[in-house]
Formats: sequence, structure tokens, C-alpha cells
Amino acid sequence: MFCLQCGRENEELFKGLCNTCFVAQNSLITLPQESDVELCTHCRSIHDGKKWQELNLSEEDIIKKIVSEKCIPDKEAKEVTLTLEIINQKGSVQDLLVLAKGTVLDQPLERECSVRVNINRTTCPECSKFFSGYYEAVIQLRADERPLKPEEIQNADKIISKRLEKLLRNNKMAYLSQRAELKEGVDYYFGSYKAARKISITLKDQMGGTIKESPRLMGRDKSTGKDLFRIWISLRLPSFEKEDFLAYGNHIGQVMDMKGDKIVLRDLDTMEMTSLPWREYSQLEIVAKREDIRTTTITSKTPKSIQLLHPENFQPHDLDILPDLAFLKIGDQVKVVEIKEKLYILHPQEKKRK
Ligand SMILES: [Zn+2]
Ligand SMILES: [Zn+2]
Repeated sequence: MFCLQCGRENEELFKGLCNTCFVAQNSLITLPQESDVELCTHCRSIHDGKKWQELNLSEEDIIKKIVSEKCIPDKEAKEVTLTLEIINQKGSVQDLLVLAKGTVLDQPLERECSVRVNINRTTCPECSKFFSGYYEAVIQLRADERPLKPEEIQNADKIISKRLEKLLRNNKMAYLSQRAELKEGVDYYFGSYKAARKISITLKDQMGGTIKESPRLMGRDKSTGKDLFRIWISLRLPSFEKEDFLAYGNHIGQVMDMKGDKIVLRDLDTMEMTSLPWREYSQLEIVAKREDIRTTTITSKTPKSIQLLHPENFQPHDLDILPDLAFLKIGDQVKVVEIKEKLYILHPQEKKRK
């Protein structure tokens, strides 16, 4: 057997060639002479045939990455490394010098070639959506049977911008495209439904209330043939506020706290804390507001009863004493509330804490 290239005899042959000729004709790598890539000038995402992806790289590194990914090492090549250098930039045309190093049949080998990358600078679909004010979901912040308070709006604004900042790190569509303050509340428009949904849950966790989602059909996506929906998320803050008084079943309680999953109440007849899920919201009735709380003085006390002056008519008024209030003394100032013609002493919680 002899080498087809140089004719040398008695050699081990690779595809009809001797070791030296085989290595000499090996190209080490295959690279397309020219590649095209779409690059979003706003977020530097690239579109390489199939889909857009965000790389968080400089333009130069993006170009090098594209070339490296197109490089196919030869079957016999091992330990191939590439060194890339941009040698010419003219507008959208980038010429690169590629130096490939590796081994073929255990012999070190170097190959050099030049390739061209054509960059088509454009705006990716997500960035165009952002610039056109596109939105997938709207959070409608309202309060039940009352207008929103300015401090509630401020609080919601703060919660939303903090949450968006975090969400934006992983979701380019997590932006607020519009905020509309209306008579009945505030509408927040979000690029991403997923982000809007997470935000609505955070708002409810921190401010209480009830959430309802309703999709609205907006038309049809011409390219995919799918129905296009936008989601309206209604977050309704409760009609009552902290420290207001509610009737629930046969009980009367003062709202001590509102959390995402429950309303915490102190029962005025027993001073015990209880909590109710938000789904009971429609069963609750406001029987007094925190503005109805009055202050009065204890005038007399027996082991079983306590006497105080009625805050409106200043007549002595006797009440059974609750074990939790047994520490009260004659002359103490207490907060009271009158509900359905019955006077209740409120737990002086703040005083006790000091
Ligand atoms: Zn040969
Ligand atoms: Zn973009």
C-alpha cells in the first residue's frame, strides 16, 4: 500500500493517505464564510435562525460567540481552541480572523481563516411591544364602597415599583406601560401577565382585600392563529380599615390586622383574637368605624362589674367585667365604643405593651 498523495510506501494509511499527508490536508475546523444575525439595539438580544435570546454580552462578544457556535471541528481533530479577532468593521459588516489550534493524529495543528458576520440592527419583538405601550394585563386597584385613600395609593405604587425591579431581572416584559388614576381607583398596565399576577398577590398580601381575574378576548394573533386575551385583575381593598368594628355571626370584633389570607379580629365580648378568611368578606358588616372610639373614665369597680361614664350623656354606666380587663382601676382612662346601643370597653393593648 502506498500514500495516494506522496506515494510513500509501507506507511499506516488514513483514508488512503500517510500520516503526514493526512494531517497536512486536514482543515481542523469548518466555518461558514458568512453569517447573518439580527441584533436588537435596545436589549442586545440576537435572533439566530430560530428565536430571540438575550445574552447580556457586549456586541463584540456576541459576534465572537456566534462565530464560535458555527464552528464544527473536524472528526479527527482534538482539543480544538479558537482565538477570534475582529479585523475590520464597516457598518454592519464585521470581518474576523479565526485562529484554530488543535491536534490531528496527535500532531499539533494550526489553521487560520477569515469569516464575515453581517449584523442586521433591529428591534426585537419584546422591545417593540415595550415601545408601543403593549400590555398583557391590567391591575385595577379599588376599595369596596369607598374611594381609595391617598396613603393606600402611595403604598401600592411603592410595592409595585419594588416588585417590578426584581421581576425585570428575569422577565423583560415585567414593565409598567401605563398608570391611570381614575375617580374609582388606579389602573396599572403591565407588559407581562405573569408579572402582573405576582404583583397582585404581593399587593393583596400586604394590603388585604379580594382578587378577581377576568380575561377579555382582544382578537386573534394573525401569525399564530391563537386568540389574544388580556387579563383584568381586580384587587378590591376592603370597605373597612384597621381598628374598625365588624359584626360576624353573633360576634362583634375589632379589626386588628389584615393579611393576605385572613382578617385578624379581637372579639369585644371575650377579648379573644380570632381570624377570618377573606372568602367570608361578604358576610361581614361594619358596625362602627375607628372614628367612633371615645375615651372615658372608670368611676367605680366591684369584683364583677365596672362603672364608667357614658361618653355621650355622661351618665354612670355599669358593665360586667371581663377577666382580661380585671387590671383596670378606678380613675383609669379607657377607650370605649358604642355598638347597637351597647357599650364596649376596648382592650388597652398599646398601654400594656409599654
Ligand atoms: Zn503521503
Ligand atoms: Zn430587544
